[in-house]
Amino acid sequence: MITAPFEYRRAGSVDEAVSLLGELGEDAKLIAGGHSLLPLMKLRLAAPSTLIDIGGIGGLDTIEASGGGFRIGALTRHVTLQNSPELGVIQPVAEGIADQQVRNRGTIGGSIAHGDPASDLPTAMLALEATFNVTGPSGERQIAAGEFFQDYLTTALEPQEFLTSIDIPSVDFGWGYEKFTRRAEDWAMVGVVALVKDSDVRVAFTNMGSTALRASAVEEALSGGTVDADSIAAASEKAADGTEPPGDLNATPEYKAHLARVLTKRALTTAVS
Ligand code: FAD
Repeated sequence: MITAPFEYRRAGSVDEAVSLLGELGEDAKLIAGGHSLLPLMKLRLAAPSTLIDIGGIGGLDTIEASGGGFRIGALTRHVTLQNSPELGVIQPVAEGIADQQVRNRGTIGGSIAHGDPASDLPTAMLALEATFNVTGPSGERQIAAGEFFQDYLTTALEPQEFLTSIDIPSVDFGWGYEKFTRRAEDWAMVGVVALVKDSDVRVAFTNMGSTALRASAVEEALSGGTVDADSIAAASEKAADGTEPPGDLNATPEYKAHLARVLTKRALTTAVS
């Protein structure tokens, strides 16, 4: 499959990229690793008039300790996260994305900005209550992960905004991660991130709706009580409550709901152990 014709520009800085987005209008798109945007273009589901390559902008691929957590540059590749065990649950989540070739190119910023409910990192960002640092024509702003993912491939980013970094307040949790795939290295049919620290219990899903989402019914069922085998088993039965998973080639909504219940129980059991 061949993309529609497009112009190619390279930005040397965040400011230059934002300025080019303003100058070229909404038909221009940033490209980082290209592993979500290029497939869409090859399928002719996207046809940007210009690609603005941000891959050469320096200083955006670092992981720094910050305020008890970490600041991760938006151009940090999945392979770097995969090789960073200090990042807690982010490490296995990154390691589970696709195959090594994809992980060598794809970036955390691209995964978040793309807003695909089947992606793995947005789920971890929701559970970790990350904050996204964004630069646009009127300056910088912060967007909480809980307000960022709005609908299928739709986020709170404005067309001229650039996601520069991600702040993770803390990774100091017991964690469990479950990703159920039809084939090895495939997209998740359903994914679950569970985090537990004392009475702070968080659960988030991949592919259980039109965005990554928190498993509110499970979190409410476990809030304020003892987190043990019995309470986990009871709470996990509520995993699909309030969700509307889309049916697809691999699974019906009912099967995804079943997976959510089973995987939530497994992920929480691992997190408390
Ligand atoms: P790009 O494709 O370059 O960009 C994606 C979108 O984000 C574009 O709209 C672009 O304009 C925008 N964007 C990029 N960077 C920024 C920024 N800094 N600020 C604002 N907007 C920005 N992902 C998973 O999570 N799990 C999987 O199992 C999985 N399997 C895959 C299998 C294959 C075969 C392929 C090709 C991809 C797969 N992916 C999977 C997607 C992969 O992880 C992508 O690399 C990632 O989702 C997007 O990152 P990118 O850097 O490639 O983004």
